Amino acid sequence: METNLVDNCLFCKIIKGEIPADIVYDDDKVLVFRDIDPQAPVHLLIIPRQHIARINDIGPAEASLIGHIHLVAVELAKKFSISETGFRLVNNCNDDGGQAVDHLHFHLLGGRKMNWPPG
Ligand code: AMP
Ligand code: ZN
Repeated sequence: METNLVDNCLFCKIIKGEIPADIVYDDDKVLVFRDIDPQAPVHLLIIPRQHIARINDIGPAEASLIGHIHLVAVELAKKFSISETGFRLVNNCNDDGGQAVDHLHFHLLGGRKMNWPPG
């Protein structure tokens, strides 16, 4: 279901296999790989296989996809043994949110104590 991929998008290139990634999970809707610059012992990026630039762009049609991403996050938290110790699931949107890659992604971070408030 690799629809709507964008030529100059880094994460679309990972989906197409044009750029390597350390993929830890994939299915027909999402791909999950290790962040190249990990900010915690476990730092995974969960991305939809369809190009959606940012969370502002989702609508009712994406409700099940966003739900699925959360189910995958919970499953991977268990698989990577951060379920009980705790983890953070983060989406950065636009400049103030710190978004660097314009393809929707959720960071799954764990394996260390997180700070609050975030920087
Ligand atoms: P954000 O700042 O929320 O847009 O997050 C983008 C994330 O993508 C950062 O944590 C980067 O370290 C990560 N990243 C950038 N390029 C790659 C890559 N080629 N493979 C894996 N992660 C990447
Ligand atoms: Zn993309």
